Parts: sequence; structure tokens; C-alpha cells
Amino acid sequence: MPPCLFCKIVNKELSSEIVYESEKSLVFKDIHPKADFHVLIVPKKHIESANRLEFEDKDLIMEMFLTAKEVALQNQLGGYKLIINVGRKAGQLIDHLHLHLLAGKIKEIV
Ligand code: 5GP
Ligand code: ZN
Repeated sequence: MPPCLFCKIVNKELSSEIVYESEKSLVFKDIHPKADFHVLIVPKKHIESANRLEFEDKDLIMEMFLTAKEVALQNQLGGYKLIINVGRKAGQLIDHLHLHLLAGKIKEIV
């Protein structure tokens, strides 16, 4: 399997602008922001996409949403959008599950 870009970021082999970190997730700024505030909520566990989720991953999904809430609180976001692209046809480019959190003026949809 080729090395996964987001696993490298999670393992700090590649740099990123980290805005939040917990035991199970890393949140960092999107390199090509589509909104005033655009971060990626990434579980540290490698899962290719939402289409590969299993029931045993239910805590991980909960953690992603609670992390979004925490990041929104810390950054005083009045409101925000959460987006997951699933599969190439939906625009998924990185095959490591991630939740886009966008706030402020949105330039384009992810
Ligand atoms: P997707 O299209 O898979 O839903 O979203 C992948 C996102 O990752 C894109 O919005 C893209 O700008 C972002 N991205 C791609 N490569 C990098 C990178 O090396 N660092 C960071 N911080 N973001 C990246
Ligand atoms: Zn990965």
C-alpha cells in the first residue's frame, strides 16, 4: 500500500498547521482553504473512507463530531458546515477518512 499523506501528517512526518489534537484525532488547516476557516478533522486510525466504516468504529465517528464542536467553541465559530466526501466521484482525493469543517465566507464547496 502506498504511504498515506494524512497518516504521515498524523505521525508528524509531514508538517501541518495543527489547531487541535487529542489521543484519537488530529485537526489541521486545509492547505488549500475553501473558506475563511477550513480545517480537516482526521482520526489517527487509518480508514480509507466513510464507506469502509464498521460498527466497531462508532466511537471514532462520535469523537469526530465532538471534536468539531470543540474546535468551533475554541475558535468562536458562530456556525459551521461539516462535509465528508466519499469516493472519487464525490471529490474525495485523500483516502484517509476526514471531516471538513468550514466557517465564515465559503469560496467553493469542497
Ligand atoms: P477531499 O477532497 O479528499 O475530501 O479533501 C482533501 C483535502 O485535503 C483537500 O481540501 C486538500 O486541499 C487537502 N490537502 C491535500 N493535501 C494536503 C496537505 O498536504 N496538507 C494539508 N494540510 N491539506 C491537504
Ligand atoms: Zn492514512
